[in-house]
Amino acid sequence: MKQLLLYSLIIFGLLACENKTTQSTIDYESPKDSISENVKRDFAIVIHGGAGTILKKNMTDEREKAYRETLEEAIRTGYDILKNGGSSLDAVTKTINVMENSPLFNAGKGAVFTHEGKNELDASIMDGKTLNAGASAGTTNVKNPIDLARAVMDNSPHVMLSGEGAEEFASEQGLEIVDPSYFFTQSRFDALQRIIESEKTQLDHNDKHTSLEPDLKRFKYGTVGCAALDKNGNLAAGTSTGGMTNKRWGRIGDAPIIGAGTYANNATCAISSTGWGEYFIRSMVAHDISALMEYKGMSLKDAAHTVIHEKVAGLGGDGGIVGVDKDGNIAMEFNTEGMYRASMDDQGKLVIEIYKDEN
Ligand code: ASP
Repeated sequence: MKQLLLYSLIIFGLLACENKTTQSTIDYESPKDSISENVKRDFAIVIHGGAGTILKKNMTDEREKAYRETLEEAIRTGYDILKNGGSSLDAVTKTINVMENSPLFNAGKGAVFTHEGKNELDASIMDGKTLNAGASAGTTNVKNPIDLARAVMDNSPHVMLSGEGAEEFASEQGLEIVDPSYFFTQSRFDALQRIIESEKTQLDHNDKHTSLEPDLKRFKYGTVGCAALDKNGNLAAGTSTGGMTNKRWGRIGDAPIIGAGTYANNATCAISSTGWGEYFIRSMVAHDISALMEYKGMSLKDAAHTVIHEKVAGLGGDGGIVGVDKDGNIAMEFNTEGMYRASMDDQGKLVIEIYKDEN
């Protein structure tokens, strides 16, 4: 009798354990079929040059041409690397370099100004094959922050470096160091003055902290980013920015935060974000898209749509993402009036767009 009772207890215990295991295990059903949107590309690349209130009526033909030309130069740089069998990491880095070296975008040369009239740059990069990542925040003299992020990933035991330490590491790595005045552009400086002026007016009427929000809402986000899939099936993403005009107190946005501004995982997708960084950090935008694909089996398109239009917008934030999935499907999703963006696939099909509903 005693033995029977003992056996019953053991069997009951085993059943209970099994039940518990089942309940606490995430169903890692392969998202293979569900994330494929009918294409299987050898390689693909997509870029953004920032989102925001970008309206045709506020754009001169000359300026629009300059944007389209630089977007094309950037994407062709990455496309050539991928076409010749290069890695997605190299494609992402070199593509972003082109946009960092242009004064048109809020990254590298065209970085926006902090409240104190300085330029503090952030960047990050991620390798979807190894899930290695590198990032730098708040640097003032590194010409190409994406190169620094890459060096942090490749040549340091850390993921993110900031400020003077990051600058010291950059010069040890032999990266190009410039005088901070290299980042001065008159239009960005004038933008800072306009915001400071309007802030002063508001401060006369409102409470100090709430009054900062409406100003931020008018932003054009000029961050640059790239996501790519190479011929070996490896995904990579990178993002580089000057942050947001009038930022202060050493503010860091989403761009250098792995999971918010940048994420890549060979199992799902590679994503680069642009937008109101505080909301993108709180929504963990880039990783969230990957997680919806991995755990819910959503397509890149649906996952990106959910995160940008429901999650970020639901909190009151705005901006967008570009992404590519493991099959070469491309997404360019935003909830703003426009987003500078371009893509190319293995057929050489080039898309360059700026405004909403552009075809
Ligand atoms: N996301 C960037 C930041 O908040 C801004 C941008 O996208 O332009 O720093």
